[in-house]
Amino acid sequence: MNETPLLPTELLEEMTWPEVEARIAGGWTTVVVAAGAIEQHGPHLPLLVDAARGDRLALEVARRLGKALVAPTIRVGCSDHHLDFPGTLSLRPDTFRAVCIDYAASLARHGFRTLCFVPSHGGNFAPLAGMLDALRDAAGPGCEVRAYTDLHGFVALWEKAVRETAPELAERVGGHADIAESSEMLCIRPELVRREDAVAGFVAPFDDAVADRIFRDGFRALTPNGVLGDARGMSRSIGERCIARAAEGVAAALVAQGS
Ligand SMILES: [Zn+2]
Repeated sequence: MNETPLLPTELLEEMTWPEVEARIAGGWTTVVVAAGAIEQHGPHLPLLVDAARGDRLALEVARRLGKALVAPTIRVGCSDHHLDFPGTLSLRPDTFRAVCIDYAASLARHGFRTLCFVPSHGGNFAPLAGMLDALRDAAGPGCEVRAYTDLHGFVALWEKAVRETAPELAERVGGHADIAESSEMLCIRPELVRREDAVAGFVAPFDDAVADRIFRDGFRALTPNGVLGDARGMSRSIGERCIARAAEGVAAALVAQGS
Protein backbone atom coordinates (compact mmCIF):
# COMPACT_ATOMS: atom_id res chain seq x y z
CA MET A 1 0.00 0.00 0.00
CA ASN A 2 2.79 2.36 0.94
CA GLU A 3 5.49 3.24 -1.55
CA THR A 4 7.51 5.25 0.93
CA PRO A 5 10.93 3.64 1.46
CA LEU A 6 12.10 2.89 4.98
CA LEU A 7 14.96 5.37 4.54
CA PRO A 8 15.14 8.29 4.32
CA THR A 9 12.84 8.43 7.29
CA GLU A 10 10.07 10.85 8.14
CA LEU A 11 10.91 10.49 11.82
CA LEU A 12 12.52 13.68 13.05
CA GLU A 13 14.31 11.99 15.94
CA GLU A 14 16.04 9.51 13.60
CA MET A 15 17.46 12.26 11.40
CA THR A 16 20.65 14.30 11.70
CA TRP A 17 20.47 18.06 11.88
CA PRO A 18 21.80 18.56 8.32
CA GLU A 19 19.11 16.15 7.12
CA VAL A 20 16.42 18.12 8.92
CA GLU A 21 17.80 21.36 7.54
CA ALA A 22 17.79 19.95 4.01
CA ARG A 23 14.25 18.64 4.31
CA ILE A 24 12.93 22.00 5.50
CA ALA A 25 14.79 23.74 2.67
CA GLY A 26 13.20 21.22 0.29
CA GLY A 27 9.69 22.16 1.37
CA TRP A 28 9.08 19.60 4.10
CA THR A 29 7.70 22.33 6.33
CA THR A 30 4.83 20.39 7.92
CA VAL A 31 5.34 18.38 11.09
CA VAL A 32 2.92 16.08 12.89
CA VAL A 33 2.98 15.69 16.68
CA ALA A 34 0.98 12.87 18.29
CA ALA A 35 -0.12 13.22 21.90
CA GLY A 36 -0.57 9.81 23.53
CA ALA A 37 -0.75 8.32 26.99
CA ILE A 38 0.74 5.73 29.30
CA GLU A 39 -2.38 4.43 30.98
CA GLN A 40 -4.41 1.32 31.70
CA HIS A 41 -6.02 -0.39 28.74
CA GLY A 42 -7.91 -3.22 30.37
CA PRO A 43 -6.57 -6.65 31.32
CA HIS A 44 -5.37 -7.55 27.82
CA LEU A 45 -3.40 -4.51 26.56
CA PRO A 46 -0.24 -2.83 27.90
CA LEU A 47 -0.01 0.71 29.22
CA LEU A 48 1.78 2.04 26.12
CA VAL A 49 -1.16 1.59 23.72
CA ASP A 50 -1.89 5.26 23.06
CA ALA A 51 1.81 6.13 22.75
CA ALA A 52 2.42 3.32 20.24
CA ARG A 53 -0.77 4.13 18.35
CA GLY A 54 0.30 7.78 18.32
CA ASP A 55 3.59 6.85 16.65
CA ARG A 56 1.72 4.98 13.93
CA LEU A 57 -1.10 7.50 13.52
CA ALA A 58 1.32 10.43 13.18
CA LEU A 59 3.30 8.57 10.50
CA GLU A 60 0.16 7.60 8.57
CA VAL A 61 -1.21 11.14 8.78
CA ALA A 62 2.14 12.64 7.71
CA ARG A 63 2.27 10.38 4.64
CA ARG A 64 -1.23 11.45 3.67
CA LEU A 65 -0.43 15.14 4.13
CA GLY A 66 2.74 14.85 2.05
CA LYS A 67 6.14 16.45 2.68
CA ALA A 68 5.50 16.14 6.40
CA LEU A 69 7.86 14.97 9.13
CA VAL A 70 6.88 13.25 12.37
CA ALA A 71 7.97 14.67 15.71
CA PRO A 72 8.52 12.37 18.70
CA THR A 73 5.18 11.37 20.20
CA ILE A 74 4.34 13.01 23.52
CA ARG A 75 4.11 9.67 25.28
CA VAL A 76 2.46 10.68 28.58
CA GLY A 77 -0.76 12.69 28.52
CA CYS A 78 -3.74 13.77 30.61
CA SER A 79 -4.92 10.53 32.21
CA ASP A 80 -6.28 11.59 35.60
CA HIS A 81 -9.46 9.64 34.88
CA HIS A 82 -7.39 6.42 34.67
CA LEU A 83 -5.31 6.89 37.84
CA ASP A 84 -7.43 4.40 39.80
CA PHE A 85 -5.66 1.69 37.79
CA PRO A 86 -2.07 0.72 38.68
CA GLY A 87 0.67 1.91 36.36
CA THR A 88 -1.11 4.86 34.79
CA LEU A 89 1.00 8.03 34.51
CA SER A 90 -0.68 11.42 34.13
CA LEU A 91 0.43 14.95 33.34
CA ARG A 92 -1.45 17.80 34.95
CA PRO A 93 -3.19 19.89 32.26
CA ASP A 94 -0.70 22.73 32.87
CA THR A 95 2.24 20.36 32.39
CA PHE A 96 0.79 18.94 29.19
CA ARG A 97 0.15 22.46 27.95
CA ALA A 98 3.71 23.51 28.72
CA VAL A 99 5.13 20.50 26.85
CA CYS A 100 2.99 21.23 23.78
CA ILE A 101 3.93 24.91 23.83
CA ASP A 102 7.62 24.05 23.99
CA TYR A 103 7.25 21.62 21.09
CA ALA A 104 5.56 24.38 19.06
CA ALA A 105 8.20 26.98 19.86
CA SER A 106 11.07 24.59 19.04
CA LEU A 107 9.61 23.37 15.76
CA ALA A 108 8.63 26.84 14.57
CA ARG A 109 12.13 28.15 15.29
CA HIS A 110 13.63 25.71 12.77
CA GLY A 111 11.36 26.80 9.95
CA PHE A 112 8.44 24.41 10.07
CA ARG A 113 5.42 26.32 8.82
CA THR A 114 2.52 24.00 9.66
CA LEU A 115 2.38 22.23 13.02
CA CYS A 116 -0.27 19.51 13.33
CA PHE A 117 -1.17 18.21 16.79
CA VAL A 118 -2.97 14.86 16.77
CA PRO A 119 -4.20 13.27 20.00
CA SER A 120 -4.18 9.47 20.14
CA HIS A 121 -5.71 9.45 23.63
CA GLY A 122 -9.20 10.64 24.61
CA GLY A 123 -8.07 12.74 27.58
CA ASN A 124 -5.86 14.94 25.41
CA PHE A 125 -8.55 16.22 23.04
CA ALA A 126 -10.15 18.87 25.27
CA PRO A 127 -6.83 20.18 26.70
CA LEU A 128 -5.48 20.54 23.15
CA ALA A 129 -8.58 22.38 22.00
CA GLY A 130 -8.15 24.77 24.92
CA MET A 131 -4.51 25.64 24.22
CA LEU A 132 -4.67 26.49 20.52
CA ASP A 133 -4.26 30.23 21.05
CA ALA A 134 -1.25 29.62 23.28
CA LEU A 135 0.28 27.26 20.72
CA ARG A 136 -0.19 29.87 18.00
CA ASP A 137 1.45 32.51 20.17
CA ALA A 138 4.37 30.16 20.81
CA ALA A 139 4.76 29.32 17.12
CA GLY A 140 4.68 32.97 16.14
CA PRO A 141 3.72 34.68 12.89
CA GLY A 142 4.20 32.72 9.71
CA CYS A 143 3.71 29.36 11.40
CA GLU A 144 0.29 27.81 11.40
CA VAL A 145 -0.97 25.50 14.17
CA ARG A 146 -3.64 22.91 13.44
CA ALA A 147 -5.10 20.25 15.73
CA TYR A 148 -7.58 17.41 15.52
CA THR A 149 -9.87 17.91 18.53
CA ASP A 150 -13.06 15.97 17.72
CA LEU A 151 -13.14 13.01 20.14
CA HIS A 152 -16.57 11.75 19.06
CA GLY A 153 -15.53 12.14 15.43
CA PHE A 154 -12.50 9.96 16.08
CA VAL A 155 -14.56 7.16 17.65
CA ALA A 156 -16.94 7.42 14.68
CA LEU A 157 -14.00 6.72 12.34
CA TRP A 158 -13.35 3.50 14.27
CA GLU A 159 -17.04 2.53 14.16
CA LYS A 160 -17.04 3.03 10.42
CA ALA A 161 -13.92 0.91 9.99
CA VAL A 162 -15.27 -1.97 12.08
CA ARG A 163 -18.66 -1.83 10.35
CA GLU A 164 -16.90 -2.10 6.99
CA THR A 165 -14.81 -5.06 8.09
CA ALA A 166 -16.98 -7.01 10.54
CA PRO A 167 -20.45 -5.41 10.78
CA GLU A 168 -21.67 -7.92 13.38
CA LEU A 169 -18.97 -6.65 15.78
CA ALA A 170 -19.59 -2.91 15.34
CA GLU A 171 -21.35 -2.53 18.70
CA ARG A 172 -18.13 -3.66 20.39
CA VAL A 173 -16.57 -0.29 19.58
CA GLY A 174 -16.64 1.66 22.84
CA GLY A 175 -13.59 3.87 22.51
CA HIS A 176 -11.13 2.31 24.96
CA ALA A 177 -9.35 -1.06 24.77
CA ASP A 178 -12.23 -2.13 22.56
CA ILE A 179 -12.30 -4.13 19.34
CA ALA A 180 -10.94 -1.23 17.30
CA GLU A 181 -8.06 -0.28 19.56
CA SER A 182 -7.13 -3.90 20.31
CA SER A 183 -7.17 -4.74 16.60
CA GLU A 184 -4.87 -1.78 15.91
CA MET A 185 -2.45 -3.18 18.49
CA LEU A 186 -2.49 -6.55 16.72
CA CYS A 187 -0.99 -4.64 13.78
CA ILE A 188 1.37 -2.39 15.75
CA ARG A 189 2.70 -4.49 18.68
CA PRO A 190 1.09 -7.94 18.39
CA GLU A 191 3.49 -9.52 20.89
CA LEU A 192 2.04 -7.29 23.63
CA VAL A 193 -1.63 -8.25 23.12
CA ARG A 194 -2.90 -10.81 25.69
CA ARG A 195 -5.69 -12.10 23.48
CA GLU A 196 -6.84 -14.74 25.95
CA ASP A 197 -7.44 -12.06 28.60
CA ALA A 198 -9.85 -10.00 26.47
CA VAL A 199 -13.27 -9.69 28.12
CA ALA A 200 -16.26 -7.39 27.64
CA GLY A 201 -16.15 -4.02 29.38
CA PHE A 202 -18.86 -1.38 29.63
CA VAL A 203 -20.59 -1.84 26.28
CA ALA A 204 -22.48 1.21 25.04
CA PRO A 205 -22.08 3.80 22.30
CA PHE A 206 -19.49 6.44 23.21
CA ASP A 207 -21.80 9.44 23.61
CA ASP A 208 -21.76 12.65 25.67
CA ALA A 209 -23.24 10.91 28.72
CA VAL A 210 -20.48 8.28 28.76
CA ALA A 211 -17.80 10.92 28.20
CA ASP A 212 -19.17 13.08 31.03
CA ARG A 213 -19.17 10.14 33.44
CA ILE A 214 -15.62 8.96 32.71
CA PHE A 215 -14.10 12.43 32.98
CA ARG A 216 -16.13 13.30 36.12
CA ASP A 217 -16.17 10.03 38.07
CA GLY A 218 -13.15 8.28 36.62
CA PHE A 219 -12.99 5.21 34.44
CA ARG A 220 -13.11 2.68 37.25
CA ALA A 221 -16.55 3.87 38.42
CA LEU A 222 -17.98 3.00 35.02
CA THR A 223 -15.91 -0.03 34.04
CA PRO A 224 -14.14 -2.08 36.74
CA ASN A 225 -11.88 -3.82 34.21
CA GLY A 226 -11.00 -0.57 32.42
CA VAL A 227 -12.56 -1.43 29.06
CA LEU A 228 -15.15 0.62 27.17
CA GLY A 229 -16.56 -1.71 24.54
CA ASP A 230 -15.42 -5.27 23.95
CA ALA A 231 -12.20 -6.50 22.33
CA ARG A 232 -13.31 -10.05 21.57
CA GLY A 233 -13.23 -10.74 17.86
CA MET A 234 -10.22 -8.47 17.32
CA SER A 235 -8.24 -9.12 14.14
CA ARG A 236 -5.46 -7.67 12.04
CA SER A 237 -7.84 -6.94 9.18
CA ILE A 238 -10.04 -4.84 11.46
CA GLY A 239 -6.92 -3.14 12.80
CA GLU A 240 -5.56 -2.23 9.39
CA ARG A 241 -8.90 -0.69 8.44
CA CYS A 242 -9.11 1.24 11.73
CA ILE A 243 -5.60 2.64 11.25
CA ALA A 244 -6.37 3.67 7.67
CA ARG A 245 -9.79 5.22 8.38
CA ALA A 246 -8.47 7.12 11.39
CA ALA A 247 -5.50 8.47 9.43
CA GLU A 248 -7.69 9.48 6.47
CA GLY A 249 -10.21 11.22 8.72
CA VAL A 250 -7.60 13.05 10.75
CA ALA A 251 -5.60 14.11 7.69
CA ALA A 252 -8.74 15.39 5.94
CA ALA A 253 -9.71 17.45 8.99
CA LEU A 254 -6.20 18.95 9.21
CA VAL A 255 -6.21 19.84 5.51
CA ALA A 256 -9.65 21.46 5.88
CA GLN A 257 -8.30 23.69 8.66
CA GLY A 258 -5.88 25.20 6.17
CA SER A 259 -8.51 26.25 3.67
ZN1 LIG B 1 -6.26 4.08 24.12
